[in-house]
Amino acid sequence: MKHRFKRIGNKDMPSYSKNTLICKLNITTLGPILVNKTELELKWVEAKYPEIRGGFYAPTNCRARHKVAVLVPYRNRKRNLIIFLNHMHTFLKKQLLEYRIFVIEQTGTKKFNKGSLYNVGFLESQRYGDWHCLVFHDVDLLPLDERILYSCPRKPTHMSSAVESNGYRLQYNQLFGGVTALTPAQFEAVNGYSNLYWDWGAEDDDMFIRLQASRFPVLRYGQSIARYAALPHGNSSRNGMRY
Ligand code: UDP
Ligand code: MN
Repeated sequence: MKHRFKRIGNKDMPSYSKNTLICKLNITTLGPILVNKTELELKWVEAKYPEIRGGFYAPTNCRARHKVAVLVPYRNRKRNLIIFLNHMHTFLKKQLLEYRIFVIEQTGTKKFNKGSLYNVGFLESQRYGDWHCLVFHDVDLLPLDERILYSCPRKPTHMSSAVESNGYRLQYNQLFGGVTALTPAQFEAVNGYSNLYWDWGAEDDDMFIRLQASRFPVLRYGQSIARYAALPHGNSSRNGMRY
């Protein structure tokens, strides 16, 4: 995948002194959390997080161990998005990550193309910094446990093992949708997502096949920890290629 976009860089980075140490996350402080699903005003969320600019955050008292780009494909789900942002900023800050949330919006009235949005999001994210980890994230899924670490393990990872709308059960073994984590190197090795899936579904199954074809073993978080709340939304049309 060729990408030679101009670097924007990151003007939102805090200035650290040479004595500033790498952050140490005490995992014993992490556990199950609740979700606030009530409708929120964007202004209210913005006022709650004055330290966050352009979706970016980095701890000020220590240097983050992990730099994470969270990529969110989006169209016409404003209610979900605001609840998502409110939940995720608290969640990600607690993990002492340096991160930026990229909301990748599809304009126009053509069919939704999630794979393309993820590819665009990947390319765009590369202009802002060198991320260790890319998290591909549905806007309607909210992590219910702080022990779901938003950093990339060695292997491509399926994070959302147990989703509320599926009765907290895994739908099928090859599932690689909802929330996943790949390093930029892994994403590039499989040439990103396919751009060919319009409408609902199957681009994630295609990604699973790409990973298999490139001999990447896939990791999945345990279902007792990787629990996600699901926000309600209207049905999108299916493309008939799903399992
Ligand atoms: N999405 C969106 N607008 C749409 C369709 C999809 O923003 O009209 C995004 C959104 O991030 C959503 C994800 O694509 O969470 C997956 O789509 P959807 O929730 O419709 O699929 P589900 O997995 O719930 O069947
Ligand atoms: Mn959904």
